[in-house]
Amino acid sequence: MKIGFIGLGIMGSRMAANLQKAGYTLFVYNRTESKAADLITNGAVFIADPNELVQQVDVVITMLEKPVVVEKLAVGRDGFMHHMKKGTIWIDCSTVNPSFSKMLSELATLRGIEFLDAPVSGSKVPAEKGELIFLVGGKEETLAKVQPLLDEMGSKTIHVGEHSKGSAMKIMINQMLGQSMLAFCESLSLGMSLGIEKSKAMDVLLNSAVSAPILTAFRSRIEEENFEPNFPLKHLQKDLQLFTDTAFEQDKATPLTNTAKEVYAMAKQNGMADEDFSAVFKLLQGK
Ligand code: NAP
Repeated sequence: MKIGFIGLGIMGSRMAANLQKAGYTLFVYNRTESKAADLITNGAVFIADPNELVQQVDVVITMLEKPVVVEKLAVGRDGFMHHMKKGTIWIDCSTVNPSFSKMLSELATLRGIEFLDAPVSGSKVPAEKGELIFLVGGKEETLAKVQPLLDEMGSKTIHVGEHSKGSAMKIMINQMLGQSMLAFCESLSLGMSLGIEKSKAMDVLLNSAVSAPILTAFRSRIEEENFEPNFPLKHLQKDLQLFTDTAFEQDKATPLTNTAKEVYAMAKQNGMADEDFSAVFKLLQGK
């Protein structure tokens, strides 16, 4: 099975490396070619034109920043979708909004392409270790054909339902991730201003029943103020935007998410866009 991998950022480069280690032949594309260097050294073929790339492969995996980027590369007048062979399977792992995934699935079906939305839960380290969780929307028959690939990149696959349900589940998870981080940082920040020592406050908050388990993984980052990105803040802010856009489409009110989204937008505006999303702590500290 020949695999095309488009988008070799923090996540895509590691996911592709795991497929390569498992012995799959990879054809890769990334806007910034240098990020493909290790994959190329290990035998991947770099193709500078995604339209050409998709013609060479049976399965295309995309791991791109946001809907507008997927749209530009895949859907536009000369997007790669127009160059895929009938029967190609396209797995979009990018975090995008459900209505966008639905639109992609409809366009793909019209062209005889089998589509799955398969965003992932888990960050840089799980991506490296092949321990991501895939949240999949689409046909079970299609998923069954590519399950062995997902098993090389992840430790679990959840078939959420029909097309777009994987994307829906993903933005629901990240909505809670973003809010948990904000609640923690806001509380910690107030405690510190009242003279509670930072590590004591963290001990108590993180061991309390109200703390989200994932926050423990961010303890050392916030303690040491090391915000080198695993999950860039601009992406989390994008995911909250996708959540509120979706709520608008569904006539749902999302007051908490709208507020959280704007706090991350302020952090982005204050130079933290490319830092880890936990850098929002600095904003709440008034830094
Ligand atoms: P990243 O390192 O910023 O990579 C983004 C990818 O999109 C890169 O390949 C980048 O190419 C490409 N891209 C961006 N703008 C482009 C444009 N205008 N034209 C062509 N290519 C463009 O991000 P990431 O962390 O790997 O995230 C990728 C996706 O996974 C996002 O949807 C993110 O929300 C999601 N996600 C991330 C994490 C995480 O913890 N990092 C976890 C789960 C899901 P260049 O290399 O040339 O910039």
